[in-house]
Amino acid sequence: MTTPQPPVPVFRPGLFDGQLALVTGGGTGIGFGVAQLLAELGATVVLASRNQAHLDPAVEQLRSVGRKAASLVLDVRDADGVKAAVRSVADTHGRIDVLVNNAAGNFYVPSESMSANAWRSVLEIDLSGTFFCSQAVMPVMRDRGGGRIVNISMTLHYRGWPLMAHATAAKAGIDALTRTLALEWARHGIRVNAVAPGPIPTEGVKKAFAALPGQPHDVFSAERAMDDYARRAIPLARMGSPRDIANMVAFLASPAGDWITGAIMVVDGGEWLQKSPN
Ligand code: NAP
Repeated sequence: MTTPQPPVPVFRPGLFDGQLALVTGGGTGIGFGVAQLLAELGATVVLASRNQAHLDPAVEQLRSVGRKAASLVLDVRDADGVKAAVRSVADTHGRIDVLVNNAAGNFYVPSESMSANAWRSVLEIDLSGTFFCSQAVMPVMRDRGGGRIVNISMTLHYRGWPLMAHATAAKAGIDALTRTLALEWARHGIRVNAVAPGPIPTEGVKKAFAALPGQPHDVFSAERAMDDYARRAIPLARMGSPRDIANMVAFLASPAGDWITGAIMVVDGGEWLQKSPN
């Protein structure tokens, strides 16, 4: 009951033929799920993150089934590095049609003991990284008459979420940035939207959860605890999957998203509407 259904094809084959999509954090978790779907639909995908060891297997997996994929080592906190990397992607491929700002830091820590470094690090990856990447692709998209930027947000800041002061603050900033950039760049044909996922048990999330005091410390028990949470706290009674999020990203990046900008699309099985039963 709590397992996501296997992916069902929703979009027309070749929907993104000839397009270039840059996905930050595209080597793992939700980012990889997004890259997989866009590549399946014909896009060339560039997966960008800090760690080549995260990127190589992801690119290999995509290429092994005939998709067009490349990696880009990039720290989204480094504004100059981001500009240079985006320039190199635009020079190589001649275009950037879709940017998915998905890279994020992810760990739980009580606010009273959060180091300045931890605070800055998450704000810089999530919020500044989203801004730097958006700013860097803007001229490329503008010069080609438009593009789609999709930011990956969350819902935890709608109510507040203990131990996540850094991430909730950063994602609230991303929501504000989404709306502001949407207004500033609409005249260039650049649509800027966000997707706010509910809980998706990626490896990153499982590790962060297993590191919480009082939680099961092995991944298998963490999965059982998450299943139990899904049954209690999510009206649609299952955790999400990267494909759930990828479908919404693909929708926003497709012609169906032509008249949508500044929107934050919640994809969470109804979780945030329902008060936490804890
Ligand atoms: P994940 O697998 O841990 O992915 C995070 C990615 O970000 C990694 O690929 C990582 O790659 C990259 N990254 C981290 N710091 C970076 C930096 N400085 N520069 C470039 N890339 C960097 O996490 P996930 O669960 O898939 O989450 C993906 C997105 O969904 C995040 O924005 C997260 O906040 C959001 N989200 C997730 C959930 C969930 O339940 N999973 C819920 C709501 C929102 P490297 O280590 O190689 O840099």
